[in-house]
This record gives sequence, C-alpha cells and structure tokens, in this order.
Amino acid sequence: MIQLYVPLNFLGVIYREIKQSLTDLDKMFTLMAREREIADTPGAQPLQTGDAPELRFENVVFAYDPGPQGRPILRGVSLVIPAGKTVAVVGPSGSGKSTLARLLYRFYDVQQGRITIAGQDIRQVTQASVRQAIGIVPQDTVLFNDTVAYNIAYGHPGSDQAEVEAAARAARIHDFIAASPAGYQTLVGERGLKLSGGEKQRVAIARTLLKNPPILIFDEATSALDSANERAIQAELQTAARNKTSLVIAHRLSTVVDAHEILVMEAGEIIERGTHAELLARQGRYARMWALQQSGE
Ligand code: ATP
Repeated sequence: MIQLYVPLNFLGVIYREIKQSLTDLDKMFTLMAREREIADTPGAQPLQTGDAPELRFENVVFAYDPGPQGRPILRGVSLVIPAGKTVAVVGPSGSGKSTLARLLYRFYDVQQGRITIAGQDIRQVTQASVRQAIGIVPQDTVLFNDTVAYNIAYGHPGSDQAEVEAAARAARIHDFIAASPAGYQTLVGERGLKLSGGEKQRVAIARTLLKNPPILIFDEATSALDSANERAIQAELQTAARNKTSLVIAHRLSTVVDAHEILVMEAGEIIERGTHAELLARQGRYARMWALQQSGE
C-alpha cells in the first residue's frame, strides 16, 4: 500500500503544481489581453504634466463588457479637477466611483467621450507615462511577497532607507514596522507577516508619498482604519495632496468637507455636484447622506 501511496502522493503534488502554473498562465494571458486592449498608439509620446495637471472627464461612457449585452457603468460622466485641487466622489456601492479611478489609470479605455490630463487625451500618450504620473492608494492593497522596505520603495525604485523610513513615518506605519521581528527587512504577504487592511493601506500610502506623483487617487477603504489613525492619515494625505491634483473616492463624508467639489454618483451618473456647503443648502441626496452619517456617529 505504502509503495502505491508514495508515487500517488507525488503525482498529486505534480498535479497541483501544474494546475497552479496553469492558473498563473491563465492570469497572465488575461492580463496580456487587457494590455493589448489598451496598447499605446503608434508614435505615442510621454504625457507632459507639470506639477499639478488639470484632469477632465468629458462625457465618458463605459461598460466593462463593451458588447451589446454589456451593462453601462458610466453613462456620460463629465468632471473637471482644476490644477492642484481635490475633487471627491461619493455615492452608493456599485455606482461607478472606483471605475473612474480605473479609467484614469487606463486599466481600460472609455467607449465614448475622453479623459484628459493637462489637455492630453490619455489614449494618445504612453500608458507608462500616465501611470508614472499617478499615485493610487487603493481600497484593497495587494502587497508583494517581499520585504516591507521593498513594498514601500516600489513606488520609487532606488530610494534609500532614510527616504523609505520618512515615508513610513508620514503614513504612521513606522512604529509597527520597527517593532516587527526583522524591521524593514520583515517579509510580508502570503508567506510572511500578515498585515491588517489598515496596515496594508498605510504601506500603500507610504509607497505613494515616496513616489510623489503630480496626481493622487485615494480610494478610501470602507472600514480599514480606526478613527484616530484615520484622522492622522487624513492630515498626512492632505499634506501630500497639497499642490497636487487629487481624486478622492470617499465612503465617510467627513473626508470630503474640504474638497473643492463633491460629486454625488448614482447608477453611473453624477446626480449632484457642489461644495459641502452648497450641497447641504440644496437639501438633496448629499444632505440626506450627511444627516444619516451624522446621526450614525
Ligand atoms: P464601492 O463603493 O462598493 O467601491 P463603486 O461605486 O466604486 O462601489 P465600482 O467598483 O466602480 O463601484 O463598480 C461599478 C459597477 O461595475 C458595479 O456594479 C460592479 O459590479 C461593476 N464592476 C466593477 N468591476 C468590474 C469588472 N472588472 N468587470 C465587470 N464589472 C465590474
């Protein structure tokens, strides 16, 4: 029996390995297909941004499935983020907020309308230069199976330890890292130290602070941070966003009160827009959301 078991077990291991490689291959082809979808136009030049470029969405229509059966996710969205300002987007889950960020980063191309950065259509410039200009702090940060230092410096390869540490301090994650067994050399990810959602997001913030891009996208986590840390990081982000052009996708309205403009999205459309004070005075959807969150708190 044991004679049979060993080779069978071995076969099982090989099977799992092959299956895993196939899954990875599968992922790779999916990624490649997506890359092809948004290939650079021949002769595309790098994006010219300056310190804080103006961002525009002009009548953007988008569906993840562009076929005739595809559900439209954005139905003619127009917005302007003036140079160096912060615009916040709020609205119910599934209304299309994160999709705006994905399109700006050019994970997908729009089906109608256009997106411009400093007046340049993002389809006409190199994709690498668009991504270089943008720092994203996503809702769910995926960390590499590597050291904390690597994960932070990824935003700006070639940074030295002092720069990595300064970014980690600003993102309020330094003390946590310093207390870990191997400090900045601690391995994180599936095979290393497991970080909570909030800790991962702080690593992503440190990475973005280090990258220091002219455009910031902050996709606020629904519940990753406790409120003391949230306020501290909010302050850091506001400092980081100074003199940059920022898009904030917010779940807590306390995050957006100072925004240059707040956009309220519903089912792929902007149904209200204005400053916090203007929207409260309007006594519409935003004012109701505000009242609800205030009473919740
Ligand atoms: P939340 O507040 O929950 O993050 P959201 O407003 O950011 O929501 P989006 O993530 O923009 O919403 O999603 C908008 C719609 O697009 C949702 O109905 C979602 O199911 C759909 N969607 C998102 N990503 C994909 C995808 N990769 N493929 C197909 N549909 C998707």
